[in-house]
Amino acid sequence: MFKMISLLIFGVAASGCAKENADRIFINTSIYTLNSANETATSVAVKNGRILFIGDEEKSYEYLNENTEILDLKGNTLIPGLTDAHAHIGGTGKFLQTLNFHGTASSSEITSMVRTAANRTPPGEWIEGRGWDQNDWQVKKFPTSGLLDKVAPKNPVAFSRVDGHAYWVNQVALDLAGITSETPDPDGGRIVRLPGSNKPSGILIDNAMLLIDDIKPEPSYELKKRRISQALSYSLKLGLTTIHDAGSDSDEVEIYKELASEGKLNPRVYVMLDDDEKLKEKYFKAGPQIGLFDNHLTIRTIKLYADGALGSRGALLLKPYSDDPENSGLSVTPVSELRKSFIEGIKRGFQVATHAIGDSGNRMILDIVEEVVGSDPQNDHRSRIEHAQILSLSDIQRFNRLGVIPSMQPTHCTSDMYWAEDRIGSERIKGAYAWRKLLDTGVVIPGGSDSPVESINPLWGIYAAVTRQDHQRYPEGGWQPGERMTMEEAVKMFSAWPAYASFDENIKGTIEVGKLADFTILSNDIFKEDPSVLLETKVLMTVVGGEILYDILLKPDDLYLAAE
Ligand SMILES: [Zn+2]
Repeated sequence: MFKMISLLIFGVAASGCAKENADRIFINTSIYTLNSANETATSVAVKNGRILFIGDEEKSYEYLNENTEILDLKGNTLIPGLTDAHAHIGGTGKFLQTLNFHGTASSSEITSMVRTAANRTPPGEWIEGRGWDQNDWQVKKFPTSGLLDKVAPKNPVAFSRVDGHAYWVNQVALDLAGITSETPDPDGGRIVRLPGSNKPSGILIDNAMLLIDDIKPEPSYELKKRRISQALSYSLKLGLTTIHDAGSDSDEVEIYKELASEGKLNPRVYVMLDDDEKLKEKYFKAGPQIGLFDNHLTIRTIKLYADGALGSRGALLLKPYSDDPENSGLSVTPVSELRKSFIEGIKRGFQVATHAIGDSGNRMILDIVEEVVGSDPQNDHRSRIEHAQILSLSDIQRFNRLGVIPSMQPTHCTSDMYWAEDRIGSERIKGAYAWRKLLDTGVVIPGGSDSPVESINPLWGIYAAVTRQDHQRYPEGGWQPGERMTMEEAVKMFSAWPAYASFDENIKGTIEVGKLADFTILSNDIFKEDPSVLLETKVLMTVVGGEILYDILLKPDDLYLAAE
């Protein structure tokens, strides 16, 4: 299943004869360069944030002087710094700051967590949480607001159910939202009532959740910045050296600039500007901003939205859902508007990345690209379709022909595989999460997580791409195993291919002399072991621009851990 990796040891000097001195040399490591010859090495030297030398240890010492730091990686594996090509950084930070009830066994387990949270939260401030599921509890009934009132009497509380389709709130939240016995159920929603009365029980379903969402205050700039910082440091621990932020609002872009100017924007961020007229206008005027702050921030992409998602039957399909024959999904932006935005983006020199999940949503975008730029090989537009989940088989080869990049999330496949075929049937499923069919046409597939929808852990993404199995190794052999990737492809999906999707293939994505010194150091040799090892592999060190920003290998007790 794995392509052989050549074991050639090689050495390349950055300049002809006089050797430069390295800032750092990493030795005693198993390096997978993922360069075009798939070479491996045992030592890499860096200077001024770039790779100065790759090869064997002895040769690397030619770059040594008294200021050079030598780091013994103790035989561990070094791969190109990992990139998440589609994540929501602000959303991930918010997710990390909300209480997580996944796997709780009772409502009292939750209330004790809430008591602790309430003690450290100023009165009046919201306490948010997610992931509760009454089906996991002994008493498999919806909880009530009363349970929360006891432990958080002074804070509004709203906890979303595991599926995101219900809130469990307390009385303070009900009062703030003005939800009383007299409040009627909104269209498409339900206010659950206490038995034998009209009194709201504290459970709000679907559109009734909007009554709460509407009154939650907008997070302040400072809170957004705290969330983003937390998401970034969490991502470093998971080995990410670059993140493509799939839809940044104007505060978020400002925060990225601020952090970058303070030298704190790590991982590096590649911004897709949200589909917001004012924001786009501002950046269209300024033009693409590439490689700011020593390649820590790039703003050159706009994000558009064609349709919704498969789980909620919002993905736009050419024919109705197999399990909902009246419904073909949702077009969230009129096609005329998508076309206009696409043309404007390309004209201003921006890359266009469009969310499209259903086969009709995808075709809509492919048609627009075909009409606007055609298959002109001179036009290096690198338009992206974010998700590209369900494709009509006849559209698959159009990606390569039109130069459209399918930007996909392998963990969506392994989360959706249990019910995806119910939604779209046995024929259309052949074009779903169709990595192999796409790769066979010659395209590359940058990989992401869509965090916070899925975990931002890139090793889990690689695992899903290689196995098409869940963490219990279900189903045996993988779901639609013909679409699996090799380990080499899957690692490229999270390194070299995102670099191409951000026009950065000359500075990122592989380990080559002259490129940015971004590395991820792993506790296992994932190329030599069974893919299941990915689930227990630890990121030991994350290096961005030659700087060690996370390290539990050489500094196991360091403050990196305390910064949790
Ligand atoms: Zn997304």
